[in-house]
Amino acid sequence: MADRRNVFLYYHPTNEVEEKLAPLIEVAKQYNFDIVSNYQEANIIISIGGDGTFLQALRKTEFQEDCLYLGINTGDHIGFYTDFTLNDIDSIVAAMKNEQVEVRKNNLIEVSVNGEKPFYCFNECSIRSNVIRTFVIDVYIDDMHFETFRGDGLIASTPTGSTAYNKSLGGAVVDPRLKAIQLTEISSLNNNEYRTLGAPLILSGDSTLTLKVVQDGNDHPIIGADNEALSIRHCHDIKVNIADKQVKMLKLKDNSFFQRVQKTFL
Ligand code: NAP
Ligand code: MN
Repeated sequence: MADRRNVFLYYHPTNEVEEKLAPLIEVAKQYNFDIVSNYQEANIIISIGGDGTFLQALRKTEFQEDCLYLGINTGDHIGFYTDFTLNDIDSIVAAMKNEQVEVRKNNLIEVSVNGEKPFYCFNECSIRSNVIRTFVIDVYIDDMHFETFRGDGLIASTPTGSTAYNKSLGGAVVDPRLKAIQLTEISSLNNNEYRTLGAPLILSGDSTLTLKVVQDGNDHPIIGADNEALSIRHCHDIKVNIADKQVKMLKLKDNSFFQRVQKTFL
């Protein structure tokens, strides 16, 4: 860690956050960390905010594979991606010096729409009808036509994202050490004409999931990459894979995934 000295801070600048951040910046400088203004020069990227801010930090810094990401919550509580709070600067500096922490690697999903350059998702990719009507999607697992979905939409989530939107849709909570893609339905219509599995489906990380939007005039779904909406017109097919690259996060040793799940939901 000795050579990891360049720190990029990602946050929504408000007077309140900047005031709270000042002591951290001071202490970091004392320990010879440099605060850089270009994330491409950073080896540690710190997000200050909630889990939603952490997701934005990943996207805005283009999911740097050789950086360590660290999430700091601005409130008192910690979240799934924010192990630290601004009230506890000592733990943050200890983490930056690699004390009492572990590095957790998380898989990303890679999504390509109509064969174009793929984008990454850390929690999930969601595909939802943008009008009040249902839309129809043919679901393929690898090259096999699996089902024809009609309803509000589908989401493909990562194990680390399984506790977010996926869970609200009745999906399973998945250990992030597993390499997998989970497909969950948003209000599927099931009748004698349309039939879907009606249960969350967990695919191996080697699978390719292909969603072909049936072109019936309702083919402009809203595509969500974590908390960002992408507007893609004439969406024909969406391919989802586990990406080759991973994201490394600095985590406190006493805040394992299942401890977090227990603290949040039980
Ligand atoms: P948001 O709508 O403000 O918040 C969604 C909530 O999910 C927040 O409490 C957020 O924590 C939390 N969260 C984010 N990632 C999580 C994870 N991996 N496990 C457990 N909780 C998580 O949106 P946001 O804060 O920008 O977060 C984006 C995420 O919201 C999306 O990736 C999606 O998973 C989720 N979402 C859920 C629903 C739903 O459940 N019906 C609908 C749309 C989106 P913080 O308060 O710390 O930010
Ligand atoms: Mn949020």
